[in-house]
Amino acid sequence: MENSGEKFDIIVVGAGVMGSATAYAASKRGLKVLLLEQFDLLHFRGSSHGESRTIRASYPENYYPPMVIEAAKLWEEAELEAGYNVYFKTSHLDFGPSDNPSLLHVISSCEINKIDHRILDAHQVFDEMSGRIKIPDDWIGVATELGGIIKPTKAVSMFQSLAMKHGAVIRDRIEVKGIEPIDEQEGGGILISTTCGNQFRSSKCAITAGAWMKNLVKKVTGKHLPIQPVETSVFYWRIKQGHESDFTISPGKFPTFASYGNPYIYGTPSLEFPGLIKIPIHGGLECNPDERKWKAAKEVIIEEIREWIRGRFGDLVDADGGPVITQSCLYSMTPDEDYVIDFLGGEFGKNLVVAGGFSGHGFKMSPVIGKIVVEMLLDGEVGGGVDMKYFKIERFDGGLNGNAKSFADQVCFSSS
Ligand SMILES: Cc1cc2nc3c(=O)[nH]c(=O)nc-3n(C[C@H](O)[C@H](O)[C@H](O)COP(=O)(O)OP(=O)(O)OC[C@H]3O[C@@H](n4cnc5c(N)ncnc54)[C@H](O)[C@@H]3O)c2cc1C
Repeated sequence: MENSGEKFDIIVVGAGVMGSATAYAASKRGLKVLLLEQFDLLHFRGSSHGESRTIRASYPENYYPPMVIEAAKLWEEAELEAGYNVYFKTSHLDFGPSDNPSLLHVISSCEINKIDHRILDAHQVFDEMSGRIKIPDDWIGVATELGGIIKPTKAVSMFQSLAMKHGAVIRDRIEVKGIEPIDEQEGGGILISTTCGNQFRSSKCAITAGAWMKNLVKKVTGKHLPIQPVETSVFYWRIKQGHESDFTISPGKFPTFASYGNPYIYGTPSLEFPGLIKIPIHGGLECNPDERKWKAAKEVIIEEIREWIRGRFGDLVDADGGPVITQSCLYSMTPDEDYVIDFLGGEFGKNLVVAGGFSGHGFKMSPVIGKIVVEMLLDGEVGGGVDMKYFKIERFDGGLNGNAKSFADQVCFSSS
């Protein structure tokens, strides 16, 4: 296949969840697809590995909930085709100070998108959660039905298996180093070259390179995308003896949750590691994805989570003992925390789409993102009422602010 002159319809660069979902969506539409990954398939060096990602329809931005609702359907369709589950449902609970602008926007976005939600005071949260979550009297809770856990590594593997079932070719340990347009006189399309000396041709290309996006796009096209890699840590804490089942997704029906304010803390019910619950901070340190520290967050961050656990879960979760498991992962942050899904333009015209900058909240929407990328490349436009203006590169043309928002960033990160 390599250097054979064989031409693909679409080459997808990067086999994280976005590339794998794109390869699946493209191959399902009957296209001849090649998916290339620089490391081993299902590796742990990017953003899509691990045991749990939250899915929730409650967003401060109005434009994400319809995408999540469509994604939930697409997750179920893919599961049906695969014959196994990657999406484990529960409800979702947001909470925080009653005047927190982001939380107030979550409420208005639920109203605008007609998402059933209930606003609870501190006593109602305590009662509804049977005493498992306590919030201060001047906080509120927002309960929504669509919540749950998606198993990331299993989900990426599912998309790759389904893509292969539909005829996609997948190659790992191949680093793309060049992406060039081919002259019309020579057949047109795109030429991909790799560090090991291979060349591949295609009509269209999608770059889904996660934390490597900025460097790769700069290297191959000279264009700057404001996507900052950030190293974040995931912490699992021990549930106190006798309370383990209270925090399970089933039968405990514990919700996925997000605690707005400073710090923004989120978590998932106990599922992957029995007796443990995932409670990290939504933040981290700027990094170079090729020179990772693989270091847990500073003690000060762990102390902030400890305090939060003592306040919210009282004596039910062991804060003093510290996190039992720590895992490292990468976010790809844009300045406004919105995605970049756009044609790269220039000599590539409408043949090259970049999809990145998922800013720590993209996993749940990956089946929709894959579908959108394929629609852009194949149909030139996106169906289903998704307003793509929020994801365009040109929003950063006048400076780095991007989309205007009247609430604070969710992710907090620093350079040291
Ligand atoms: C700790 C953590 C928790 C998160 N929690 C949630 C959550 O609860 N809900 C949610 O919706 N989202 C969540 N996210 C975000 C979500 O996981 C990411 O948005 C998503 O995984 C991004 O996928 P990706 O495919 O863009 O990037 P990646 O998974 O990093 O994939 C990019 C791939 O491209 C490959 N690549 C790069 N350059 C090249 C090259 N030159 N040649 C070949 N291959 C290349 C890389 O090796 C990599 O495999 C979380 C992320 C983290 C880190």
